[in-house]
Amino acid sequence: MAATATRTHFRVAIVGAGFSGLCMSIRLLEEGIRDFVVVERADEVGGTWRDNTYPGCQCDIPSALYSFSFAPNPNWSRFYPLQEEIREYLRECAQRFGVMPYIRFGHEVNEAEWDEDRHRWRLQTSGGEITADVLVGGMGGLSNPSVPTIEGLDQFEGTLFHSSHWDWDHDLAGDRVGVIGTGASAVQFIPMVQPQVGHMTVFQRTPSWVMPDPDRPVTELERTLWRRLPITQRLLRSVLYGFFEATVVTTIVNKRLSSLLERVARRHLEEQVPDPVLRAKLTPKYTLGCKRITLSNTYYPAMSAPNVEVITESIERVTPGGVLTADGVEHELDTIILGTGFKVHDNPAFSRVRGRDGKTLREAWGGSPRAYLGTTISGFPNLFLLVGPNSAGGFNSIIFTTESHVNYAIAALRTMAKRGARVAEVRRSVYDRWARETDRRLANSVWNEGGCQSWYLDANGRNGVWWPGFMAGLWLRTRRFNPAEYELRPA
Ligand code: NAP
Repeated sequence: MAATATRTHFRVAIVGAGFSGLCMSIRLLEEGIRDFVVVERADEVGGTWRDNTYPGCQCDIPSALYSFSFAPNPNWSRFYPLQEEIREYLRECAQRFGVMPYIRFGHEVNEAEWDEDRHRWRLQTSGGEITADVLVGGMGGLSNPSVPTIEGLDQFEGTLFHSSHWDWDHDLAGDRVGVIGTGASAVQFIPMVQPQVGHMTVFQRTPSWVMPDPDRPVTELERTLWRRLPITQRLLRSVLYGFFEATVVTTIVNKRLSSLLERVARRHLEEQVPDPVLRAKLTPKYTLGCKRITLSNTYYPAMSAPNVEVITESIERVTPGGVLTADGVEHELDTIILGTGFKVHDNPAFSRVRGRDGKTLREAWGGSPRAYLGTTISGFPNLFLLVGPNSAGGFNSIIFTTESHVNYAIAALRTMAKRGARVAEVRRSVYDRWARETDRRLANSVWNEGGCQSWYLDANGRNGVWWPGFMAGLWLRTRRFNPAEYELRPA
C-alpha cells in the first residue's frame, strides 16, 4: 500500500527521508506495515548528507561503522566515507528496500497537531493535510543552518552563503574570501578552498582541537574480502564500535583522561604550525572533547599558507564591502562563507509540533529539549523522535542511535497492537526521572565541564545532545518497550 497522492490517513507518518526516516521505513516494511508515509521537504533522500555538499565534506566516523547494520556496503572508497558516497548509499538503500513509493517529496510539514478527540496526528504540509495514528520525527539535528545575528550581514554586497548550502555557481578563484567559524565544517572546507582563492581571512572565535587524520583509501583487497567474506567487515565494525565506546571513559567517566588525546593533538599542531604566534592563536583553551574533535592533516598547513590570515578580534559588524572587527580594521571581502553550524536546540520544527494540551515542543521544553531515552515526550502521545535530545553517543556513530530508536518505536507499535491500545504516552514521572538522571550523569562530563561554549549546551546551559553513558546502555534500554512506563489508552 504505497503512499499514493490521494490517500490522506496513515497508521504512521514519518517526517524526513534522511538516515532516520529511511531506517524507520525499512523496518516498517520488514514488519509488514505498509500503511505509512514519509514526508520530505526536499526532492531527494539523504538529509544532511544531501544538503551539505561543501568541498571536503566527509564523515569523521569510519565507513564500516557509519552505515546501517543490516546493509553493509563493501564498496566504500575510503576508510572515512565521503559525502557523495553516503548520499549514494542512502539512495541505494531507499531503492533496494522499496521505500521510494512511500515518500512524498516536496512536502514540508508546516504544522503537526495532536487531535485528542480522534487520537491522531494532523499534519498540515505544503502538499495538503494528512493524518496519522503515530508520528515519527526523523528531522535530524543538523538540518537547519544557523545564520549568526551579526549587524549588517544582510547588507553585504558580495557573495554570501552558508557551508550547508554551498554556492557551487560562484567561482571562488582569485576572490578575497572571509570565513566565519572554525568548527568541524570549516576545518574540512578551508583546506579545499584556500588554494583557489586570492586571499582568505578566517574569523576565529574559538579554535577547534585538530587530531591527525587516519583516513586512507580502501584497498581493492579489502573490498574483495568484504564482498566475499562479509563477516570480516562486520568484525571491523565491531572493533570500531568497541573503540568508540571506550572513549566514553574520557568524556563522561573521567574527563581528565582526555589529556592523553590532547597530547597527540598538541604535537600535531606543533609539527604543522612552526609560527609561534599563529600556533598560539590555534591552541584551544578548553578540554579536548568539549567541542567536536576534528580530524585533518591539511587544515593547519592551509591556515599557515601565505594567502591566509587568522583574525581573532571579534566581529563588530559586516559592512557592504567586508567585515569590521573590534580593533577598527575593515577586512575587504568579495565573498563571505558562514561555517557557523546549525540550529539544534532552536530547530524550527519544535515550534510546529503541538501536543495534547496545545503547547508546542518549544513551549513544553522552555528552551531545554528532553525526551525519555531520547525519543518520547510527556504531553505528546504517539510521537517518537529519532535521535532526539540526549541520544547521540560521544564519539560513536549516530546510526547506532537511529537503529536503537527505530527498534524501540517498532516494539511500541507491536505492544500497542497486541494490547489494542490506540494511544501511548510516556508517564510524566518516568519522563521527569529520566531527565534528572541524565543531568546527574552528565554533570561532570567534558561537554558540561570542559570549559567551552558549544552547541551541545542550550540557552539554559543544559546538555541536551549526548547520551549519558555507554551506547550499549541505550541499546539495552531500547530493545524492549516497557508498557508500565506508558499510559496506554484504548481506541
Ligand atoms: P559548529 O561546530 O557549530 O561550528 C560553528 C563555528 O562557527 C564555531 O567555530 C563558532 O564559534 C562559529 N560561530 C558561530 N556563530 C558565530 C558568530 N556569531 N561569530 C563568530 N563565529 C561564530 O558547526 P559546524 O562546523 O557546521 O559543525 C556542526 C556539527 O556538524 C559538528 O559538531 C558535527 O557534529 C557535525 N559535522 C561533522 C562533520 C564530520 O563528520 N566530519 C563535519 C562537519 C560537521 P564558537 O566555537 O566560538 O561558538
